[in-house]
Amino acid sequence: MRSALLDRLEAVRRRVDAAARAAGRDPAGVGLVAVSKTFPAALVREAAVGGQRAFGENYAQEGAAKAAELAGLDLEWHFIGPLQSNKTRMVAEHFHWVHSVDRLKIAERLSAQRPEGLPPLQVCLQVNVSGEATKGGVDAAEVPALAAAVGALPRLRLRGLMTIPEPTPDVVLQHERFRGLRALLQALNARGMALDTLSMGMSDDLESAIAEGATLVRVGRAIFGHRAPAR
Ligand SMILES: *Cc1c(COP(=O)(O)O)cnc(C)c1O
Repeated sequence: MRSALLDRLEAVRRRVDAAARAAGRDPAGVGLVAVSKTFPAALVREAAVGGQRAFGENYAQEGAAKAAELAGLDLEWHFIGPLQSNKTRMVAEHFHWVHSVDRLKIAERLSAQRPEGLPPLQVCLQVNVSGEATKGGVDAAEVPALAAAVGALPRLRLRGLMTIPEPTPDVVLQHERFRGLRALLQALNARGMALDTLSMGMSDDLESAIAEGATLVRVGRAIFGHRAPAR
């Protein structure tokens, strides 16, 4: 019998495919990062059996521990949470991607600490598209300068932009935020960069994000179920 987890994973894949087709896009152009934060390695393993390869984590220690425990599986680990200086080494050593770079100092540490034997760390700049003072992410106006500086670091490969807009049931507003991120990416590419990644869209708004060009959606609850309250 199929597990509830694999049923939910398949349902999310169907949502992603349907949203891509509705937007006239190839579903293969939208990657799914399964956000496993707070859930045990056993559930990651179960999703992996269902064919899921990319997993997202918000807490460096928790993610590094799961990556180590599941080192025998060919998984791709994405760090998507707020990143403090004292956690950069753990992230540089255990993750393949970091979506949440919003300061040059953090990027410099990640580059310096990325182990020699590993490929460059794939990174996105986290952008605050909602203009909220409380959320993480660099302001849109600062993106070009930060992108140029991060793009020059030797052990990082700048891939694109990420955002976490304020949650809203207003679909028009969802589209507006995601369109804003896409416009920023296009502006960088018009200035000579070659960025290919828009990390945007979560359980409740992935359809809007895909319609506006998301290439990676980060989905937690719709796959793993409800999380215990944040620590
Ligand atoms: C938790 C989290 C997600 C997943 O959110 P859901 O609403 O559970 O799909 C995506 N992105 C980031 C940065 C997160 O912290």
